[in-house]
Amino acid sequence: MQAMETKISSKLPNLVTSLPGPKAAALVARDHAIVSPSYTRDYPFVAKKGSGALVDDVDGNTFLDFVAAIQNQAAELIHMSGTDFYYPSLVELAEKLAAIAPGKDPKRVYFGNSGAEAVEAAIKLAKYHTKRDKIVAFHGAFHGRTMGALSLTASRSVQRKGFGTLLSGVFHMPYPDTYRGTYGVRAEHASEDCLSYLVNELFRRRVDPDEIAAIFIEPIQGEGGYLPAPPEFLQGLEKICRKHGILLVADEVQSGMGRTGSWWAVDEAGVEPDILCVAKGIASGMPLSAIIAKAHVMNWTPGAHASTFGGNPVCIAAAQATIKLLEGGLIANARKIGDYILRETSTWTKKHKIVGQVRGRGLMIGIEIVRDQKTKEKAPDLRNRIVHMAFERGLLILGSGDTTIRFCPPLVIDEEQAAFAVQTIDGILGEIERSI
Ligand code: PLP
Repeated sequence: MQAMETKISSKLPNLVTSLPGPKAAALVARDHAIVSPSYTRDYPFVAKKGSGALVDDVDGNTFLDFVAAIQNQAAELIHMSGTDFYYPSLVELAEKLAAIAPGKDPKRVYFGNSGAEAVEAAIKLAKYHTKRDKIVAFHGAFHGRTMGALSLTASRSVQRKGFGTLLSGVFHMPYPDTYRGTYGVRAEHASEDCLSYLVNELFRRRVDPDEIAAIFIEPIQGEGGYLPAPPEFLQGLEKICRKHGILLVADEVQSGMGRTGSWWAVDEAGVEPDILCVAKGIASGMPLSAIIAKAHVMNWTPGAHASTFGGNPVCIAAAQATIKLLEGGLIANARKIGDYILRETSTWTKKHKIVGQVRGRGLMIGIEIVRDQKTKEKAPDLRNRIVHMAFERGLLILGSGDTTIRFCPPLVIDEEQAAFAVQTIDGILGEIERSI
């Protein structure tokens, strides 16, 4: 195996083998023989250890991680035990989450282990509290893979195929896509058209609003293509919910905990969800999730819902350390570096004929790849090529939606690393454009 040309820096990628290296290739072969084939791996990256925004593979290659949000510093603070019926840190974390949640209403907090579990808890609480059983979610939504969460998910049919009948009483509606518009038309009226669909189509023809327990929304669709809902859409949705006694549930599993440069993606719109779902970045990679609900909404009785491991002390310590880091500069860093990336990529729709749009906030940025800027024809093959070429240059990124590249780096990323990512993708876009 020949050593490839390397760039020596403690902050940037350093590739010492061709990819995958021999150890990675061997491990991938073993993995394919034994691990569930349902996992989706885009390329053969085999992780060994991480530090800040860099991760090493098993062959000693160092990659710039533009995917995971793990603040390794938290690892030093997770040595805590104290499993009891009550313990102080669980109360402290609940108080903290209630304090940073959007809006002024008093809150209550329930802890689980994963994003899907938070969504399950939100579904159950919404039904329990409202005594209604219908739910509205969005086309393109991803809320997780357990049966309830999957019923709200409308991202890819392969995620539902083979699992039979899901939860009944779930209705999906279009998400406000300000690039392509609702059903591919009137992009500039996306908010208005989607709200009109809800009131004039769904409420009038399919489900009476008095029977709807909750509307579940990702304020920025994650798996659906890094699509932000415009503030006026979220505000309009909140108004409709209030009018009909429907709970507004924000799934901020991907967009929350400082990633967008403020605590929550809904902050920009100033809406106050009745239930907020939180996971992923909450505990720097440790399995913890939470729902934060208005106190009067979380009125279920003892025994109505619980989880053995939800809110275990080790994950809670990780969450407390994570929140300190977020408050201590990482939210500000997400805003600063996000603005930097958006500035640096702001010319890309002019410079690159296959870039249709660059969008997002903070460190949640999507780059829409198209075959033609005029027709906006999707180009998933080109998007996938970009993802693979980035891997070969030491940059880990993932696709999102049909034809989007996502920039979702760890919040500890610095400007030099962001510049590397931007320049790498810039170069790859140019290379692909010359070849087509
Ligand atoms: N909700 C959103 C918005 C997500 O992006 C995800 C995961 O990607 C989930 C829920 C499910 O989270 P988990 O994989 O922890 O169950």
